[in-house]
Amino acid sequence: MTGPDATIARVSLPRPVRQSFHYRIPDELRESAVAGVRVSVPFGRRRETGLIEALVAPSAAPGLKLRALHRVLDSEPVLDADLLELCRWVADYYVAPAGLVFRAALPPGLLGGGADDPGELRRQVVKITRDLPTLTEREQVFGRARRQREAYETLEAIGGRAEVSHMEKQLGFGRSILAGLVERGLAEISLETVERDPFAEQETDVLPIELNRRQQRVLAELADLARQPEPGVAVLRGVTGSGKTVVYIRLMRSVVDSGRGAILLVPEISLTPQTVSRVRAEFGDEVAVLHSGLSDGERKDAWTALRTGRKRVVVGTRSAIFAPVRDPGVIIVDEEHDGSYKQGETPRYHARSVAVVRAGLSGALCVLGSATPSLESWARARTGQWTALQLPERATPHPLPEVEVVDLREEEGPPPRILSKRLRDALADRIERGEQSLLLLNRRGHSTWVSCESCGWIAVCRSCNVSLTWHRKRGRLVCHHCAHEEPSRETCPECGAGTLAYTGVGTEQVERHLGEVFPAARIARMDVDTTGRKWSHRDILDSVRRGEVDVLLGTQMISKGLDLPGVTLVGVIDADVGLNLPDFRASERSFQLLSQVAGRAGRGRRPGKVLVQTARPSHFAIQCALVHDYEGFAERELADREEPGYPPHLRLANLVISGRDEDAVESAALALGDWLEGLVAARRELAATRLLGPAPCPIDRLRGRWRWHLLIKQPDAAALGAILRFTASHAAIPSGVRLEIDRDPESLL
Ligand code: ADP
Ligand code: ZN
Ligand code: ZN
Repeated sequence: MTGPDATIARVSLPRPVRQSFHYRIPDELRESAVAGVRVSVPFGRRRETGLIEALVAPSAAPGLKLRALHRVLDSEPVLDADLLELCRWVADYYVAPAGLVFRAALPPGLLGGGADDPGELRRQVVKITRDLPTLTEREQVFGRARRQREAYETLEAIGGRAEVSHMEKQLGFGRSILAGLVERGLAEISLETVERDPFAEQETDVLPIELNRRQQRVLAELADLARQPEPGVAVLRGVTGSGKTVVYIRLMRSVVDSGRGAILLVPEISLTPQTVSRVRAEFGDEVAVLHSGLSDGERKDAWTALRTGRKRVVVGTRSAIFAPVRDPGVIIVDEEHDGSYKQGETPRYHARSVAVVRAGLSGALCVLGSATPSLESWARARTGQWTALQLPERATPHPLPEVEVVDLREEEGPPPRILSKRLRDALADRIERGEQSLLLLNRRGHSTWVSCESCGWIAVCRSCNVSLTWHRKRGRLVCHHCAHEEPSRETCPECGAGTLAYTGVGTEQVERHLGEVFPAARIARMDVDTTGRKWSHRDILDSVRRGEVDVLLGTQMISKGLDLPGVTLVGVIDADVGLNLPDFRASERSFQLLSQVAGRAGRGRRPGKVLVQTARPSHFAIQCALVHDYEGFAERELADREEPGYPPHLRLANLVISGRDEDAVESAALALGDWLEGLVAARRELAATRLLGPAPCPIDRLRGRWRWHLLIKQPDAAALGAILRFTASHAAIPSGVRLEIDRDPESLL
């Protein structure tokens, strides 16, 4: 809008401040300076790239001597009106700087980190120009240039070519390493026009043609809702293997055929290759795939294709909720309970909540699907605020697997007792019959606890208050919270004794143990340490699918979305890993994880079995998982969260105060607590607020920063928002101390 009154641009800069800035629009830019375009503006002595959030009347910035916009960078808005409004909602609700929200919503590089042209498709590409077929050649060529060799071999593994920015940013090989490869005549760097889709070469899965009766009914209801002017939200609870994915795709098809767009969010693309390939099978070139493994260039290509309307369907992880799909008619969040939908840094948005809001703005249907819906969604479905739909049975004639518990307290023999006799026998039996098994242990590394038996010394990270994990193959003690690692030790650094004990079992140790117990078995491990390369997840899963693996062992990565018909046994090595965390979601997370991983068994012709090892067999999360009783679990957990009150009964925000000086953090936290108490006491409309803390966070030191926190509980979302915004702009936070506001936190650690 450019009227006589709207002559001032309100601009957000990608900076950690909640305020926006006003600029005068020079006459010659009046046509092009519209809401949603990027602009170059003077800021202090520099120029910065920002985004016009809105055009406002001069009266909105009275008395200010405004500087003029310098340049308009786009010929059309990079965010349309709906997306602008969505971003404003995110900034407002999560109390985040609007500029950072815009930056998160746009492909990398568009706002901040340089202002390039979104239409630019030419980029630097590295290509291998000389093969080194033998190991001897490699040793000769690289000698001690270990990083160059790693770069070469990584490049080789991803097909011999990659964008320079991808090698640098995602894979961590700096310019000088790449230049070294070029100097040795092994690779070349050139400028190329690239537009490629990394999933293009992947084979596609064929979908079943006939939906069963229940699927048909659910699809009909969803399609009917999607045609309403205000379709609202539908929660689809379908047991694992009930055929939800097939229903999603049919629904998306009907929406796309009616001329609108469709968005499908998944927790992690690399872990859900089957979902992606099915969507591809249906939509071919019309679908853009967005995930964290994409290079910046690939991401921008996909974004451009959506924005121009060339593609109308997107499948992607968390940030794909901001994809510029035109006129979305349906937004589906698959595995909606998954914690990865919450962003762990500012803006700390939850993609599920953003999906609900975006659907509302676009008149789209929002579908939240899961075998184990979050209690937040379930509570709304139960009370009829949202539509509840169910797929209670598997789509294939194979029943849900039988789940049995193994009480670890009854096991005999010396520790570590990794495999109970029952689990060992069951594995032996599957290996002998040529059937496959999955083993879950949600803890990586070899030993998670290194201590001295003489003096009690414990290996902890020097910048975090967490114990270091011993990674045996690498010979390092590693912190799983920051980048710190150090060499393994033979003797205690405190008392010099050689009495170090390595306890606490991780996946690396289980792998070794399996190798000893089943020397002939083919074992694969899938966790963060074995999946560093871009396609390594897919490679591991492909080899499982081809029957080249007898036992697939892994962390929660193996629990999601996998449809592996050869798997007849699932073993959970230690169900208590998550159950013992000091977090109000510990039971819910454990129940979800057990249900998900159990759902991987018996998807083929042969029935499945699940063995859960635990020292707390009577815990209700385990008991309910044993009998696939979601509703029983939800009822009990909802009751447990009534007192002390936790979501979904009320709204929660976690205020984390951190800094490098322990005393300063403590006194800032105490002062903030007092200030908040004064605030809620002074206003009658905030009387229902409950404040908890301040207290040290469960992990009270992280990456060198001391941490305290404070919980705010409020029955009313709007009141909580008001408190948070007032706090962000008025609470006095001393310099050197940082306040982070995490609204609707996924974890309180
Ligand atoms: P979910 O997403 O609920 O876990 P999927 O959509 O992955 O379930 O379906 C599980 C399995 O059942 C897949 O192998 C799928 O091909 C199959 N399936 C789904 N619907 C049908 C159907 N109507 N007839 C036969 N097989 C089906
Ligand atoms: Zn010691
Ligand atoms: Zn650390």
